[in-house]
Amino acid sequence: MKCLCCGMELKDGKASCNICGLPTLAGDDNVRANVIRETRHKYLDNVSVSVNIYNYEAENGKLSEKGSEYVRLADAVELTIDKIQWLNMEFEEIESKRKFELELLIDKKGKKEYKTVTIVPSKNISHKKIGICLKAGFNCAIVVGNQDSFEMSEQFSLT
Ligand SMILES: [Zn+2]
Repeated sequence: MKCLCCGMELKDGKASCNICGLPTLAGDDNVRANVIRETRHKYLDNVSVSVNIYNYEAENGKLSEKGSEYVRLADAVELTIDKIQWLNMEFEEIESKRKFELELLIDKKGKKEYKTVTIVPSKNISHKKIGICLKAGFNCAIVVGNQDSFEMSEQFSLT
């Protein structure tokens, strides 16, 4: 059985989830739904993930960097487990086997953490987008690609 709040697999006989503390006891559906929502908000409110996007310009056939800015990928509380939320931006094609690095800013209730994730695509991916996917235990992964073909980064914690 999985925790209804954070999605972690629950150990048999445990009275509560050891990640988010949600009690596994059965109860009135409305009460349970409220407890699940409140627990989720307690962990994920004011938590967001942004990605550093570099802007390039072509000048005389050469690409030059024109600064960068952190663009919000998601507010964690709005994500659904195992559903990818894509950033509404398309990037250049990425080649297979070429290491792809993304600089992230994870805001954990005002505490800012910077993290670089590496993705090594196993195949060529065209029409590349960047997305984010919530995973069990309030972890998440960064995704590059598109709905049909994508690669995920290692998971990292949002709490
Ligand atoms: Zn849980």
